Amino acid sequence: MKQSPLHIRLYWLLHRYNPFRAEVGLRAIGNPTPDAPVLVSGNYAPVVEELEQVLNGFDVWLLVVDSAGINVWCAAGVGDFSEHKIIDTLVATRISEKVTTRRLIISPLAAVGIDRDRLRRDGGFDVIWGPAHLDDLPAFLRGGGTTRTPQMRLARFPLRDRFQQAIGIMGVFAFSLLLIPWHRREALWFYASIAHAVFGTMLGYELLPAKYPANKTMLLAAAQAAILLITRPNHGMPLRRRLFIGFAAHLLIAFDMIGSTPFYKTTIAHWLSTGNNESLFQPNLGDKCNSCGRCIEVCPKGLFSRAGEDSRRVVIDHSKGCCECLACIKQCPREAIDNIGRGWKDDIKSLDTVSRFRPA
Ligand code: SF4
Ligand code: SF4
Repeated sequence: MKQSPLHIRLYWLLHRYNPFRAEVGLRAIGNPTPDAPVLVSGNYAPVVEELEQVLNGFDVWLLVVDSAGINVWCAAGVGDFSEHKIIDTLVATRISEKVTTRRLIISPLAAVGIDRDRLRRDGGFDVIWGPAHLDDLPAFLRGGGTTRTPQMRLARFPLRDRFQQAIGIMGVFAFSLLLIPWHRREALWFYASIAHAVFGTMLGYELLPAKYPANKTMLLAAAQAAILLITRPNHGMPLRRRLFIGFAAHLLIAFDMIGSTPFYKTTIAHWLSTGNNESLFQPNLGDKCNSCGRCIEVCPKGLFSRAGEDSRRVVIDHSKGCCECLACIKQCPREAIDNIGRGWKDDIKSLDTVSRFRPA
């Protein structure tokens, strides 16, 4: 597959939080037969291109659906990637005349936005949840394209992704360099401190001795302040100002780390008062649960599993750290999941459904 020129890919990397729209429609990768697997993706151009690279060597169909030019996880979370959009694309591409399969392989990260029963009923296609990470797609397809290992269900944040995210954040904060003509030293020090906070947190993610990302960033702030107090550099800026700018830069990045998934884990007030980033959405299985396992299939953090003597009963392990995607709620056919979390943060995810809306 042909890749975009280097300067385009660099531009995407630096502006990765902006939408970039790929053309929607049905693409043949290799020489797919009518019964070849059909994969579905959003139309975030960098991912579509990466997907084509990953699928090089396979004979599959790729249905690119309008997701407003953003990745499917974010798009599904805000209603820009749904069964309606997929059905529109199925109809527009007349895919039923080209393929014999009636199954679509979709990233489970999109599960928060897709009503699979309605997709089957109104679109005529069933959903197979594929791997959560692109890197697992070749192994998944080589294994027949229907079953995943438990690891393939989980969202991962490997070093390469963290590095790319760091570059994207540096792109966002590049606006501060506009101040160079007036405050050259301060602007450069601020940007250097942002780089210290971002790359330090992302690249040292597994090494920094703190559980939550925002706390990792503040450890780096403390390290920077300690080095400044010991070395007392004097390059035309008073030490107090240098300390203040460095701390402010790290604090800004720490605030960003509080919402380090597309679905925002917690609030700044919660982090400042408790020191943790834990989700205010805490799922709980109610009496209506029949252990169908649909939540297991889509939870990107692996909170749900089967337990009990017959390994049938579905249980929740909160220690895995919910990321508030709400895919479990969307996919549960029996409305069996309640939120028992505490802490209202002004959105549907923190509704305390158990005590607020149920009789005691
Ligand atoms: S999807 Fe709903 S009914 Fe099925 S196991 Fe999960 S909580 Fe229970
Ligand atoms: S438990 Fe949390 S992370 Fe898992 S699907 Fe539900 S909302 Fe998403």
